[in-house]
Amino acid sequence: MTEVSVAKDVVAGTSDLVVLKSVNKHFGALHVLQDIDLTIATGEVVVVIGPSGSGKSTLCRTINRLEGVDSGEILIDGKPLPAEGKELARLRADVGMVFQSFNLFAHKTVLENVMLGQLKVRKTDKQKAEEKARALLDRVGVGTQADKYPAQLSGGQQQRVAIARALAMDPKVMLFDEPTSALDPEMINEVLEVMQQLARDGMTMVVVTHEMGFARSAANRVVFMADGRIVEEAVPDQFFSNPRSDRAKDFLSKIL
Ligand code: ADP
Ligand code: MG
Repeated sequence: MTEVSVAKDVVAGTSDLVVLKSVNKHFGALHVLQDIDLTIATGEVVVVIGPSGSGKSTLCRTINRLEGVDSGEILIDGKPLPAEGKELARLRADVGMVFQSFNLFAHKTVLENVMLGQLKVRKTDKQKAEEKARALLDRVGVGTQADKYPAQLSGGQQQRVAIARALAMDPKVMLFDEPTSALDPEMINEVLEVMQQLARDGMTMVVVTHEMGFARSAANRVVFMADGRIVEEAVPDQFFSNPRSDRAKDFLSKIL
């Protein structure tokens, strides 16, 4: 193990940032999340994998309350998820989310996209918001695109803007739901590299992805879901070389 990952494990032991306790959720008759218990420590990078329809996106969406739950508890930094109002807006700012489909505001420039949340939610003054937006755009490698509109950028560039926009809120944790699945193959790495760097910088991350190279190199832990349950959790080396459950073995045999 390298010194960096040892240090990270020590950091990861310090506090529980995201806690899900016995979380259940239904969509009608479908029991989409079944008794989910999951604890994510500060600085930890958790990769969630599993077959399509297993509940990975729903899990992410419950963590920032885009979806409510039927029972159980979700705590962010020790506090229960607020149901609505200003508290909820603040929570959403603490929990950054990056989607498969970028979801940038089409009628706003790249710079405006990254400034907007700072102005509206964080009430940052305009000059500071712009400075920060430009610095973040530089950090994800799209600083020269600031005055363009999203449609003028490649998918990989748009996704990096979406990451900068989430980071502008100084989130405590970042959720990524298949951030590279909609990208042309040659653009996947430029997004994964930004995520790798974020992980190295100590960001707490929950990443739903089929990019097993990323899981192996960046994750502290792999969570395998099937049929709304967490079937298996392990460090990446162990999970990929020696999966315990038949479901995980079957899944890995199809994708690796
Ligand atoms: P995954 O991200 O692992 O592919 P999802 O969390 O998107 O899985 O979906 C899990 C299951 O819940 C699927 O069967 C899906 O069709 C269903 N589902 C997701 N969102 C809704 C919704 N808003 N209403 C009804 N069913 C849904
Ligand atoms: Mg999904």
